[in-house]
Amino acid sequence: ATEALRKAEERAVAGRLALEVMHEVKNPLEALGHLTYLALQEADYPEKVRKYLLQAEEQMENLSHIARQTLGFSQQMEKPRPVDLVAVAEAAIRIHQRVIEEKRIHLVKDLREGAIAQVFTGEMLQVVSNLIVNALDALPAEGILRLRVRKRKNEVDFVIADNGHGIPAQHKEALFQPFFTTKTDKGTGLGLALSKRIIERHNGRIRVRSSIRPGKSGTAFKISLPLRWR
Ligand code: ADP
Repeated sequence: ATEALRKAEERAVAGRLALEVMHEVKNPLEALGHLTYLALQEADYPEKVRKYLLQAEEQMENLSHIARQTLGFSQQMEKPRPVDLVAVAEAAIRIHQRVIEEKRIHLVKDLREGAIAQVFTGEMLQVVSNLIVNALDALPAEGILRLRVRKRKNEVDFVIADNGHGIPAQHKEALFQPFFTTKTDKGTGLGLALSKRIIERHNGRIRVRSSIRPGKSGTAFKISLPLRWR
């Protein structure tokens, strides 16, 4: 499982890169789509040119599809295996170590071993990584990021909490919907939607608590998964 986790970690780094690239690619791709559409409205050019434009439009569809797929680090071939969520937490921390240090974030690790769940390691790492990215985005310099892993009676819990700016009540409905984002520059609005889908596929739940009260603001996402009995 350690080897699987290490591979998943590598893919996670690649996944983040893909996300950044995808964001750079999205706008010009959209512009191309609009331009082709507009060009196709013009009637007075040879049939041949029309055909080429239609083909270009088709290829852009393909590109969009690939971009959407690249968003996941999941690979089809992976099998679910028993993994201690503490190991997932440690791997996720390593991925974001640089930003954590640069922002001088106070990382509080409250990780108790034995929280074993049956998971697709790559997918679970992606979820935790997404939640950490969101927390880091919400946190000011020297903010607090808290990770907690616990084994319960029939479940395992993973909490990612920050004392960042929090989420206004009117956004809570939309949070898990694809493309909802408040990040004007770099948001895709896909992180939470994707995370929720992955957790539900693992028969788990993901819940959020948040406050925007000045001085007491912050957000906690809690993932619960069925405990895997050895
Ligand atoms: P993105 O990060 O690309 O915006 P997400 O689906 O991951 O997409 O998040 C959607 C939105 O939820 C964010 O734009 C932000 O407004 C809000 N959000 C998520 N996590 C947090 C958090 N920890 N603190 C404050 N707001 C958050």
